Amino acid sequence: MSFKAFNLSSSLIEALAKCGYENPSAVQKNIIPRALRGESLLVQSATGTGKTHSFLIPIFEKVDVHLPRVQALVLSPTKELARQTYEFARELGRYFPKFRIRLYTSEDEVTQNLEGSSIPPHLIIGTPGRMKDVLLSRHLFSLQNVRYFILDEADMLLDLGFMNDVEEICRALPSKHSLLVFSATLRQNLRDSLSKFVKEDFRYEAEEIKTSRGVRHHFVDIKHGGIASALRDFLEIKHPYLTLAFASSKEEAEEVSQTLREWGISSILYTGNLEKRERARALRRIREDDCPLIIATDLLARGMDIEHVSDVISLSLPSDLDFYFHRAGRTGRFGKEGDSWVFYNADTLTRAKRLYEEEPSFDFYSLKGKALKQEKKSLFSLRERGTQKKELPIEERKEILIAKARSRKKHVEPMHKKKTQIAIEQVKRKYRRKAIREAIRGQLDKEFRKKDR
Ligand code: AMP
Repeated sequence: MSFKAFNLSSSLIEALAKCGYENPSAVQKNIIPRALRGESLLVQSATGTGKTHSFLIPIFEKVDVHLPRVQALVLSPTKELARQTYEFARELGRYFPKFRIRLYTSEDEVTQNLEGSSIPPHLIIGTPGRMKDVLLSRHLFSLQNVRYFILDEADMLLDLGFMNDVEEICRALPSKHSLLVFSATLRQNLRDSLSKFVKEDFRYEAEEIKTSRGVRHHFVDIKHGGIASALRDFLEIKHPYLTLAFASSKEEAEEVSQTLREWGISSILYTGNLEKRERARALRRIREDDCPLIIATDLLARGMDIEHVSDVISLSLPSDLDFYFHRAGRTGRFGKEGDSWVFYNADTLTRAKRLYEEEPSFDFYSLKGKALKQEKKSLFSLRERGTQKKELPIEERKEILIAKARSRKKHVEPMHKKKTQIAIEQVKRKYRRKAIREAIRGQLDKEFRKKDR
């Protein structure tokens, strides 16, 4: 099936072909005809399936460029996602010189947003706060000709507390518009929250696949090594084309990136801690394929389209496992294949097991030294036995951690590994002695009680 089947204008079909899009993807086949008819839809869409174009194409087809009025709004939860959608729209817009597009996010000062606003754009893309400010507080443009209102990554809009803003913007639109909601998950609270302002003809399209079909999922038991050294070994063994490694916190991302730098391995770090300019620089380097390793937090997991990611690594798992699927969706995009690797060890086993229940297609590897070995079956049971045997009293675990932390500070000293080992052994010995003493005392108590009777 080609785009011609949708009866699109020949100029749009030509523009799509020039952008390299010949045939519609599954989500586009489903959504474009309905959106062209003006239906409202709630779409559960896997990332990397072409969902952005499933709303951009109807917008480009239906907007009347001779009418100087805002006719379509796209709301994105983050400025990065908004910019990405803006770039996709501009790519198509190159072939429609009269089609005006504006981006409203906190990336720019409000004054910049207000510049050049004497002629209304046809399509506005932005984040809820800035959009509300520009459109509702400052009444920059009339919204009476809006026919498409798009909520992108709606579950994230909800999680970030933007639903009130969404509702206010929605109220300012004419009653007859098509509302297209795209979300990676369709949780009940999202549906409840949307039901407040969606009309009856609201439809629901589910795509059951969580991430694109081209993603292969792998667990990697990294044993006792730290995640930084596991990542280093992994990269040395696999030499991936472009690796996107996710950490579960800014601190973890920074620590891993710093450690690798000390070992002479450079990476692009992308976390919420970066200044506006640093973030823009990191994104530019990412887009320019400047470095084969990106270390990021989940800020980069949602919807961002980074080309050519061959391998996604979860250095640790997020507590909300939905994010795992967003991460994995950064590879295997658009019919390509990709690998998503999850590092785990005894400490992170519980989350890994929970994930395995949701995504049973995982296979198992173990990483030891310079070897990444595929295992025949699940390593979880093996690991569990290991952890059960080693389950230590909480006090003892605490002291071991303290001993490790102390020696970490001195990690530049010669023989630090040996010294750490000795410190841990001392703690263990102390607790073994304590356990023996307690056992003897228990034994003596029993003897005394016997005598007392
Ligand atoms: P998404 O994040 O789901 O919007 O997917 C976006 C990616 O899919 C981008 O790299 C687009 O360039 C690409 N894409 C969208 N539609 C098509 C199409 N019909 N054919 C080929 N690639 C497409």
